[in-house]
This record gives sequence, C-alpha cells and structure tokens, in this order.
Amino acid sequence: MTARKEIVLQLASIPNVSVSEGMLLSERTRFGIGGPADLYVEAASEPAFSAALRIARSSGAGYSVIGAGTNLIISDAGFDGIVLRFTADKISNDGAIVCAAAGAELQALVDYSIERGLRGLETMTGIPGSVGAAVYGNAGAYGHSIDERVERVRFLDGNTVRSFTASECQFRYRESNFKEHKEWIILSVELRMTPAPAAELRQTADDILKVRLAKYPADMKCAGSIFKNLILAELPESVRLQIPERVIRDGKAPSAYFLEQVGAKGMHRGGVRVADYHANLIYNAGGGSARDLCALISELKVRVHSRFGLELEEEVQYVGFSRAAD
Ligand SMILES: Cc1cc2nc3c(=O)[nH]c(=O)nc-3n(C[C@H](O)[C@H](O)[C@H](O)COP(=O)(O)OP(=O)(O)OC[C@H]3O[C@@H](n4cnc5c(N)ncnc54)[C@H](O)[C@@H]3O)c2cc1C
Repeated sequence: MTARKEIVLQLASIPNVSVSEGMLLSERTRFGIGGPADLYVEAASEPAFSAALRIARSSGAGYSVIGAGTNLIISDAGFDGIVLRFTADKISNDGAIVCAAAGAELQALVDYSIERGLRGLETMTGIPGSVGAAVYGNAGAYGHSIDERVERVRFLDGNTVRSFTASECQFRYRESNFKEHKEWIILSVELRMTPAPAAELRQTADDILKVRLAKYPADMKCAGSIFKNLILAELPESVRLQIPERVIRDGKAPSAYFLEQVGAKGMHRGGVRVADYHANLIYNAGGGSARDLCALISELKVRVHSRFGLELEEEVQYVGFSRAAD
C-alpha cells in the first residue's frame, strides 16, 4: 500500500471525519476559484479534528485549514496536500455568556444572540463565514468587531488544547495572534453579551442586512473587501492631507478611496472584475481564475503605490501559493 493510501485510510477510520480525494476547491470558495486539494477532510467534532490534524501534521504532506471559503484566494493549481475544515457548530449560552464552536456560521451565532435578547453581534449580520475565521481575522462591520465581545478562545496549538483571554489574542483591526500562528486552530469561542430588547436588535440587523445585500448580492462571487482599510494615524501627513474628511470612518481611510483615485472601478482581467460601484470589491463575473485575480490585485497595488506611496494590504487570505503563509 502506498503511503498516501495509508493516510487516506487512517483519516477515513476516524469517527465524524469525511475524506475526499481531488476535491475541487472552487466548490469550497465564494469566489468559485481554486484547483483540487489532494485530500479534503471535514471533521465534525473536536476529537475528530484533533486526530485528523495529528495525521496531517505527521504525514509530511503540507496542510491548510479553511473555514467556509468566503475570504480565500486558492491557486488554480489547488493545494498539494491536505485541506482540513472543522465543522462542529454547536452554540449555547449561560445567561449573557454565549459559547460557539468554530465551525458554526457567524450568522447563526448572530441570530442566536438576537433571538435571546443579547446585544453585541447584531451589527455583524450578513458577514458570511464561520465563527472560527471571524475570530482569526477579527471580523467586523459598522464600527464594531468580534473582539469587543470575546472572553476566551479555545484552540489547538498543534498538540494540545489551550485557551486565551481576549488580551492574549492580541486583537487589532482585522488581525489577531492566530494570523501570526497559522498552526493554532480555533475550536470555540466564549463571548460576553449585554441583555437588550430582541426586537430592537433585530431591527438593527435587518436595516444593516438591507444595505449589505445591495452592496454584495447573495450570488456575487467575491470575498467582500479585498484590501484592508488604512489606519489614518499611521499614514504620512502628505497622504493624510489628500484624504477628504467625508470618507474617513472610525479613524480609518478606506482603501476604496485610493483605489478609486487610480481608476480601479470597472477594471478587469479575464473574468475577474472590480465592481463599478465599489473600488475595493473584486468579483468573479464568470470564468475567472486565481491567475486573473492575482494579476488584478497586483496591478491595483502597483497603481496605488506609485500614486500615493502606500502599500495596500490584502484582507483576503491565500492558499496554495508559494508566497502565501499557508
Ligand atoms: C460578501 C462578503 C462580505 C464580507 N463582509 C465582511 C465584513 O463586513 N467584515 C469582515 O470582517 N469580513 C467580511 N467578509 C470576509 C469574510 O466574511 C470573513 O473574513 C470571514 O470571517 C471568513 O470566514 P470563512 O469561514 O469563510 O473563512 P475562510 O475564508 O475559509 O478562511 C479565512 C481564514 O481563516 C482561517 N481559519 C478558518 N477557520 C479557522 C479556525 N478554526 N482556526 C484558525 N483559523 C481559521 C483560514 O486558515 C483562513 O486563513 C466578507 C466576505 C464576503 C464574501
């Protein structure tokens, strides 16, 4: 038996694990882009994920952990190794403390909290993806991000289960300690919410969802914003002076502003386009490839750099590229 076959058999023998060979990752990303994974593994419980990860780590093949694929650019060549996804999705609460498994949908957690009259996540309605990735990338919208509510995060450090307080997670704008330690896999999160009338929270969420759906239609193959916004205080004065007051929000200068100045709206490479109504929104209009997507992203970065001297930084994460930290 080949070593690879042995690995497949070991993985498939773990209860609550499913293994697919050659799974097209374009079916696992919202961009609809990405070649095959040598092995694609889903694990629906902590012991199952832990066992699958142990096998992946000792197999000598590369591995990468993904969530719901809403913030990923996966190479056209796919991933020559094992792609793992943790799908446990239990959500529970004890009063204002809500606990969610990392594989739960963020929207399910938002709805769960709203229904129980717990304030804290309602402005995150409509952000697609899993709870684990939301913690990993400190997801947020409308002036709030998930770190404001995090009490503790349980994670697998590769070998053992550990737990961090919010301050140990070192949350910053769309950043956390987990982004610097890709081998740390989030298992669950505990959040502290505030009691509030459910109807009021639902109204806030519904109003936000209407605006979001107009910007990101449900069938749009995209990753939300491609680039992070820029922290105003970190920009050189010469750049700050060029930014109109009206575009500044929560101390940040939107990347979209700089992109718009360099003519990004409507640009395209193959089937990949920049929205003509939003310069920081790139989507696959049909038949787009990772090659097109990366070429367009680099062209935009070059244009912004040569006009403003700024390095835009991707919010989106790469899988299957040699330059990526996967
Ligand atoms: C239409 C649209 C709108 C969006 N709007 C917003 C927005 O308003 N605000 C915002 O913040 N984001 C937004 N996003 C981006 C995206 O929703 C978030 O980044 C989301 O948290 C990604 O979740 P995911 O499960 O799809 O993760 P994936 O895209 O699958 O993975 C993203 C990263 O998370 C890591 N990861 C996944 N699970 C774990 C885990 N358990 N432990 C450790 N690391 C893990 C992966 O390794 C990868 O690096 C938007 C995306 C889309 C498509």
